[in-house]
Amino acid sequence: MDENRKRAMACATRLCSSSLSHALFPVLINQTAVSTKLLRFNRLYSTARLFSSPNRTNLPLLTQAKRRYGFSTKEDPVASPADLRFERPLKIVEYPDPILRAKNKRIDTFDDNLKKLVDEMFDFMYKTDGIGLSAPQVGINVQLMVFNPVGERGEGEEIVLVNPRVNKYSNKMIPYEEGCLSFPGIHADVERPESVKIDARDINGARFSVSLSDLPARVFQHEFDHLQGILFFERMTDDVLDSIREQLEALEKKYEDKTGLQSPEKIEASKRRKAAVGFGKS
Ligand SMILES: [Zn+2]
Repeated sequence: MDENRKRAMACATRLCSSSLSHALFPVLINQTAVSTKLLRFNRLYSTARLFSSPNRTNLPLLTQAKRRYGFSTKEDPVASPADLRFERPLKIVEYPDPILRAKNKRIDTFDDNLKKLVDEMFDFMYKTDGIGLSAPQVGINVQLMVFNPVGERGEGEEIVLVNPRVNKYSNKMIPYEEGCLSFPGIHADVERPESVKIDARDINGARFSVSLSDLPARVFQHEFDHLQGILFFERMTDDVLDSIREQLEALEKKYEDKTGLQSPEKIEASKRRKAAVGFGKS
């Protein structure tokens, strides 16, 4: 059994025992259930395609979601062919490389180069046992993500989202243990909304809307954060963050040793800021 699935099972067990998600548990331990679930996902997906509407949710919801999660906006700059140039084999960009914090440009050219990049990203994702990957993680600062909640080639569905936007988050939040290819060896709980409604373009540039829940919603939100330059440890509670602080610092040191540069960000700094605030209040 691969690490991903073991991890997913461990988390799903926890989710199930706390009655937060009865749906997720069987999905992750049983292949038949996986297929059923993904069929449901596919159906949602195609229904949404058929009935997608340009109408957005009402403004208060949109504003609320924007404040809490940060949308990218339509004014984002458009990627040039040079921005979409890539070299094989793709290489993962690890924290704290500033590429993970750089602005990701909108894509408006849906050509063969984009299809090749998507193929390479899926290859890379399967090879590294991932279930989702965003373009900035392989050094391309554009608004593109790929995922397959099953994480196996030929199983589940390969989803490609270009210039995705969220137009609604569910109020219900659920914790789930996440990992990230840009943070090797680090896994910790992150709370996120259980479901999201999104608009995006597909690999051919066609616009569509879709509602995602459970694992697909989780993977989408993690990757969508990457497209906003947000990293998963920023969504962790202080206690959870404390539990991985040393591992983050080790990655910062690894970056400094490798590049000879100072780490562009330090988790220690956020600790000091919090400590200072605490001191000032007391
Ligand atoms: Zn990630």
